[in-house]
Amino acid sequence: MIELAGVSRTFDSDPPVRALREVSFAAEQGELVAIVGRSGSGKSTLLNILGLLDVPTAGTYRFMGMDTGRLDDGARSGLRGRSIGFVFQAFHLVAFRPALENVMLAELYNGLPGEGRRERAMAALTRVGLADRAHFLPTRLSGGERQRVAVARALVCRPQLLLCDEPTGNLDSETSDEILALLHELADDGATVLVITHDDSIARRAQRIVRMADGVLDGQLAAPRSMERTWEAGAL
Ligand code: ADP
Ligand code: MG
Repeated sequence: MIELAGVSRTFDSDPPVRALREVSFAAEQGELVAIVGRSGSGKSTLLNILGLLDVPTAGTYRFMGMDTGRLDDGARSGLRGRSIGFVFQAFHLVAFRPALENVMLAELYNGLPGEGRRERAMAALTRVGLADRAHFLPTRLSGGERQRVAVARALVCRPQLLLCDEPTGNLDSETSDEILALLHELADDGATVLVITHDDSIARRAQRIVRMADGVLDGQLAAPRSMERTWEAGAL
């Protein structure tokens, strides 16, 4: 489903920041992968690249077999809208629109047809167990319910890839478990789900845990190409 090969991202700040260093990573359809690591280690940068919100400064990112480096901006945002869903720590709901309309707005932004929009939004809310809250404003929902609306908004476009950046960061542990159970269900239905988390109990329940430190992924140092470079640098 997704495959990164030698992906680096350096920010042109002063001084420049090497947020990702030759990251190679792949995930299959239906996998749920937890990405853990200290603040500043590059997790969100990785997620932004996987979500086609940002582009690598080096390396290749293949998404569903496509080399995303060959896509222009329009093709990238089209692909993002059709195929990728996002869930963030701060739920980012429109406060003055009820849950149902929040989900419908996502359909509008992602170019889904007007016909059936309300029905699809209702089905997504039902999927996350919120059919009876469809007409509530976000301010009248609990934190866990708001995040479930955000998940409904992400899944209404039936994304193949669901990217979650600290989705349980604002929730208590019981509510976090509910959200994680929901993410597992979506993976079982065939989505590839990536969850950035600080929460060890969340990470332990993933099928796979990937650790990030200083822009490098777990196991990367043992990868053959990096070894070669270490040789060249005379460090061994
Ligand atoms: P994490 O999500 O693991 O906390 P980030 O991916 O947000 O880490 O950031 C990784 C590093 O890149 C940090 O040192 C951060 O300060 C830096 N960084 C992130 N975005 C930018 C940017 N737009 N410009 C400059 N530096 C950035
Ligand atoms: Mg982050």
